[in-house]
Amino acid sequence: MHLQRTADGVVVCAPAKLNLFFEVLNRRNDGFHEVETLVYPIDLYDTLILSGRAGPRIDFRLVFASSGAPCGDVPEDSANLVVRALELLRRRAGAELGARVSLRKRIPTAAGLGGGSSDAAAALAAANVVWGLHWPRERLAQVGAELGSDVPLFLHSSASICRGRGEIIVPAPGSPILHLVVVRPPEGLRTADVYRTCRIAGRPRPVRPFAEAFARGDLKRMAETMFNRLETSASLLSPWIARVRRALETVDCVGYQMTGSGSCCFGLCRHARHARRVARRLQTRGIGTVYAVRGCR
Ligand code: ATP
Repeated sequence: MHLQRTADGVVVCAPAKLNLFFEVLNRRNDGFHEVETLVYPIDLYDTLILSGRAGPRIDFRLVFASSGAPCGDVPEDSANLVVRALELLRRRAGAELGARVSLRKRIPTAAGLGGGSSDAAAALAAANVVWGLHWPRERLAQVGAELGSDVPLFLHSSASICRGRGEIIVPAPGSPILHLVVVRPPEGLRTADVYRTCRIAGRPRPVRPFAEAFARGDLKRMAETMFNRLETSASLLSPWIARVRRALETVDCVGYQMTGSGSCCFGLCRHARHARRVARRLQTRGIGTVYAVRGCR
């Protein structure tokens, strides 16, 4: 996440993420799943602009970027995670604080890109500055975890390994700038549906081999060890996963898989030019919206 102060508030770039590795370890009694995942932020952003206002109102405005990104089901009212994050933060701060906030949405929804969680984290970080709270990241992360398992990780700006229900976060060793293509098929997937269909493996795969390859920036070994446990269940729910995989197989990516609970899939490319070339080829296949992206610093 990148936060910049302006004359009357802050502007935050809220990035999407890719799960370069994703294993489900078990299902807890509280319904959450224990996971082990390596999360990589990419330069596909929503933009949040926040300023303070007198009185306790939160004025929220949602604008869709004109790129044709499939993100139509985003709530425009108090159900939006941005508003929920601000309301929760001021409740925890015990103060009647107000804000004017606008969100420019580019990240596709129901995609496994974590757009909503990233927006919530951006709202927490922005309000922390504008409302003069000066809370440390750990305290903001506790509020974020009440909103969603993925919110705390977006308070970190670099690649992370996440465990527990996603809230135990350590920075991933090394920080290669990877170049990738991301495909959002015409159909999204609901996270809860995908988890419900998922079968937990008797012997889970460890993240370590992938994390070591990632630390070295070894693309070939990364392709050999990348993995997503949820991909099989997502494929049972949507025929698009197999279709996108077949397309990715034919365009000379180093490796490819689904991110999070889908429905986006991504391909690992050798460099920026390669990613742009692969994206151009995929755009002709009728498999959805295609982005050439890179890791963000
Ligand atoms: P994840 O990887 O966290 O599962 P996702 O891409 O599957 O991410 P999102 O698109 O971030 O999921 O959000 C899922 C749902 O949350 C949306 O369908 C939408 O109804 C709701 N939502 C609430 N606020 C937002 C927001 N600011 N942006 C996107 N979705 C939001």
